[in-house]
Formats: sequence, structure tokens, C-alpha cells
Amino acid sequence: MSDKLIKIAYLYEDLMNTYGDSGDVKILSFLLKREGYDTQVDNISLGDQFNAFAYDFVFFGGGQDFEQTVVAKDLPRHKETLEKYINEDNPMLCICGGYQLMGSYYKTNSGVTIPGLDILPLHTVFKSDKRMIDDTRYITEWGEVKAFENHSGQTYFDNKDKLHPLGDMIEGYGNNPQDHVEGLRYRNFIGSYSHGPLLKNTNVANAIVKMIIKRHDERMKQTEPIK
Ligand code: GLN
Repeated sequence: MSDKLIKIAYLYEDLMNTYGDSGDVKILSFLLKREGYDTQVDNISLGDQFNAFAYDFVFFGGGQDFEQTVVAKDLPRHKETLEKYINEDNPMLCICGGYQLMGSYYKTNSGVTIPGLDILPLHTVFKSDKRMIDDTRYITEWGEVKAFENHSGQTYFDNKDKLHPLGDMIEGYGNNPQDHVEGLRYRNFIGSYSHGPLLKNTNVANAIVKMIIKRHDERMKQTEPIK
């Protein structure tokens, strides 16, 4: 096992990949290469075995309602490993449809409720009268972010003490039209509605790179052979 190989799990890469979200993984691979690391990206798709602890980073991109319905049926198998992985401060990024599926449910346009993994106390409801499609700008702990959003799902936090937004809106909607906040930061989990891709904002990308390298160093220590 090479200590310079970063392992990335891309959840349902073949189904959840709208608006160029795979660019987030490509940008991370590029930045990690500059730090001297190679990356291996595994597509974890329908029916695949998955242990989050075998990875340094987990990515879950956006998808349309149909793909979300398909993925939601397979996803519960991974609840235990993902919940533990997130609660032990390991890094994960979820965009749009992926972000929605980490909450308790997503009620779609047709009135169907897609169950989420219920790892994070949030829920999403589709509102057909307001598609949030526009450029976005918001302020995060790492500075300003410029991106693009395209969703009808409105996301609400059910426990505002536990969950903190990723940013405060300057332009666009973010989670919903009422709260004026974008995304979620919980431990080293980031959820976001930003496409573009989000990590063209290198302030956020570099912060995630640091989280990944820290996680990788810890994982290598755990798997060091006994001398
Ligand atoms: N289908 C979801 C919505 O419209 C997510 C869309 C997306 O991932 N871009 O809210």
C-alpha cells in the first residue's frame, strides 16, 4: 500500500453526475498531485460493496429526481459506514441531489417522498413554483464563493443547533428562499447546492485538500505494519 496514494470514493458516479460535478473530483486530484499524491477514484455504484473507512474522501454529486429515486433504493446499505465516517470527522462533499439524500427525505414534484439516509437532520421539499436557477455568491469561513445553482428542492435544517450553513448568501438562493444561507458544514462534511463546479473556488478546494491529507495521514498510521 503506497502512502502517497489518496483513495476517493465517488458514490454513484454513473448516475449522480449533473452539471459537471465530477469536476470537483478532478480539481481535488489536480491539487493533491501538486502536493505529491496520486489519486485513485472508485465509482461505488448500484450493488457495490462499500466501506467508507477504506477511503480518504467521499464524494456524492447532484442528480435529477429519477436518478435520485434509483439511488435511494440502494443507498441504505451504506448508512452505517457513512454515519460513522462522518461522525468521526472524516471529509465528505455532497452536491445538490447528493446533499438532499443525506437528510431525512426529499419530497418530489410528483408528491413522491424519496427517503434519504437520515444521517443529517434536514429535509427537502420540491416547490414547482420556484426553480432556483442562477449564479450564486456567498461568504464561507474560507472567503467568498462564486457558483451556480439549479434546483427546485428547498432544504431546511431540522436541528439548527447541530447544523451550520456553509455560507451566507450575497446573491442567489442557496438552501431555500427564506433562510438566505447556502449548504451545510457539519464536522468535515460539506453539503452544497453549488455546481460550476464548486471547487473551482480554490479557497474551498484547498481547505478540503488539507482535510483529505490529514485523514490520509491518520489512515496510514492505523494501517502501519507492527515492527
Ligand atoms: N432533483 C433535485 C432538485 O431539483 C436535485 C437537482 C440537482 O442535483 N441539480 O432539487
